[in-house]
Amino acid sequence: MRPLRFLGDPVLLETAAPVDVFDAALATLVRDMFETMYAAPGRGLAAPQVGVSRRVFVVDTQWKEADPAPMIFVNPKMIARSDETAVGTEACLSIPGRSFAVSRPIWVDMTWQDLDGVSHESRFEGIEAVCVAHEFDHLNGLLITQTGTPQ
Ligand SMILES: [Zn+2]
Repeated sequence: MRPLRFLGDPVLLETAAPVDVFDAALATLVRDMFETMYAAPGRGLAAPQVGVSRRVFVVDTQWKEADPAPMIFVNPKMIARSDETAVGTEACLSIPGRSFAVSRPIWVDMTWQDLDGVSHESRFEGIEAVCVAHEFDHLNGLLITQTGTPQ
């Protein structure tokens, strides 16, 4: 596990740098991020939230209700999004005890790489779209304190 960084830590406001080396250190970072996310407990975690300003996030939207379904995103890009949006309640492991109403696209098309550098592309909808968009924002230094409305 790695210590979480909280609102007020400047690393959360940085634009994270691309990953260019797919090595054991990257695999270790991702493993530690999952351990930290599940322990928190949360459904998503971006590398800046553990103080690493790199373009990596992990998501598991369903482990609280069903079998774990861990997803790893390295160098993600949002290549398309729905015009239609929906407002939902979001929390953030870096902003404990608070929730925000945030408007998000109802689907997003993403490309990303895995731990071996292999490229993937997929559309995410519903809670997966919300989680992916939330974590993607972290890589650009965007927090729900900026994009949402306190509840
Ligand atoms: Zn967050």
